[in-house]
Amino acid sequence: MVEETDIAIVGAGGGGAVLALALAQKGIKTIVFEQAPGPPQGLRGEILQPNGQQVLDRLGLLGRLPIESTRTVHKFHFCRVGGERLCTVDYSELPPPYNRAVVTLPNVAHHAILNTIEREASVSLRYRSAFTGLLRENGRVVGLTTKQEEALVTVKAKVVIGADGAFSKVREALQIPADLHLYPQGYLIALLDAAIPMTEAKYFVGKRTILGMFPAAGNKVYVFYMIKAGSYEQVKERGIAALQESWIAIDPSSEAIFRTLADWRQTAFMPTGRVRTPTWVADGAVLIGDAAHAMNPHASQGRMQAMVDAMTLADLLPECLATNDYSAATLKRYEDSRRPQVTMLQKLADEQVLFWNTANPIIAFLRDRVFRTLDGNARLRYRVLSTTAGLRKEPPFGMLDRLMAAGLLPDSSAREMAARGIR
Ligand SMILES: Cc1cc2nc3c(=O)[nH]c(=O)nc-3n(C[C@H](O)[C@H](O)[C@H](O)COP(=O)(O)OP(=O)(O)OC[C@H]3O[C@@H](n4cnc5c(N)ncnc54)[C@H](O)[C@@H]3O)c2cc1C
Repeated sequence: MVEETDIAIVGAGGGGAVLALALAQKGIKTIVFEQAPGPPQGLRGEILQPNGQQVLDRLGLLGRLPIESTRTVHKFHFCRVGGERLCTVDYSELPPPYNRAVVTLPNVAHHAILNTIEREASVSLRYRSAFTGLLRENGRVVGLTTKQEEALVTVKAKVVIGADGAFSKVREALQIPADLHLYPQGYLIALLDAAIPMTEAKYFVGKRTILGMFPAAGNKVYVFYMIKAGSYEQVKERGIAALQESWIAIDPSSEAIFRTLADWRQTAFMPTGRVRTPTWVADGAVLIGDAAHAMNPHASQGRMQAMVDAMTLADLLPECLATNDYSAATLKRYEDSRRPQVTMLQKLADEQVLFWNTANPIIAFLRDRVFRTLDGNARLRYRVLSTTAGLRKEPPFGMLDRLMAAGLLPDSSAREMAARGIR
């Protein structure tokens, strides 16, 4: 049997789920194929940046996230290993109402989206359903095939969306070449407890060392610790006490929190990769999120960008359906709108990786100097903050700004502009 739908989405992750919900709210007939057996249950860190909050607000979900599973965080302190504070970034400086970071317990926002989709009549969300190939007619994509449990399913669709992550099989089937770079480091994530709830986030940088601590709901604290890709098992073999000692050396004041690591099940390893592709569209098909442009998590924007992709595409697809035009040329309007910010964030995240975990003393000196300049320069600090918050499309610094940030040029306008609220 051949089924028919308007839109077929492969992957119900950060981007695919948002797209499905946004299309459901427009009454567009959609099927989502997800290879996993159900909603994700594993440990993962969740920071909703202001642009992600905007997306959830547009979908009517931001105010409905369970209060007991979320925490608002305003201040992020950047420190040297050992504890010396270099710079504080305060989300309160951003325009309200999205002038905060929202840290949730694992998968909270994602589950809220998936639960809402399940109640929408125009969307069918199918788990255990893996993409196997594309249907083509006259060179254009007109549907796909999936394997649902053991059955092969054929679905005709006006547009097929590849929202299937960095190792996208849809991208492969579209024969879109991808430059997939796996970084030599990934993150060990842990969900720990604080006797007195943390309210402000801390981020430690040192010689090949990065440790982030983000307050989560209740008395929970996320720890993000950079380790070599492939070394998670070795870290486990060395034992919990050895890991705790490494963390205590980085932030002695948080010893009590680190001591609450009692079981490796409180941890997970997340590899990191970057995807660059020459195009995100084909006749009858589109890539969104990590399938199109995975980025290093330093930007804290990968999932947010997948969500914004989804909303941008959801705004374009009704017009395609109304005009019966699913050509790459028309779908490219989505890519044209999204690519500048994504490319900028990919570059920024790579620069941050280079500076933040350097072992080179000269680069480390410059890094610390930039942090200290930002601490005293409201104009440059705002540029960085609004970029991380997902509110800027342009790079935070031009050449002169870089020289000022490195302390090589004075920024006479910064104080006056900050006082007048001009950024
Ligand atoms: C350590 C770490 C920290 C991060 N921190 C942040 C952060 O703070 N903020 C942020 O915004 N982002 C962060 N990210 C990035 C974020 O997790 C991803 O960018 C985001 O999940 C991308 O969404 P996506 O929908 O494109 O892909 P995914 O969320 O990976 O979803 C892809 C989906 O497709 C499904 N799938 C794959 N293949 C198939 C197939 N053949 N058939 C059917 N289904 C398939 C998968 O099961 C999955 O559900 C972080 C990433 C890492 C590694």
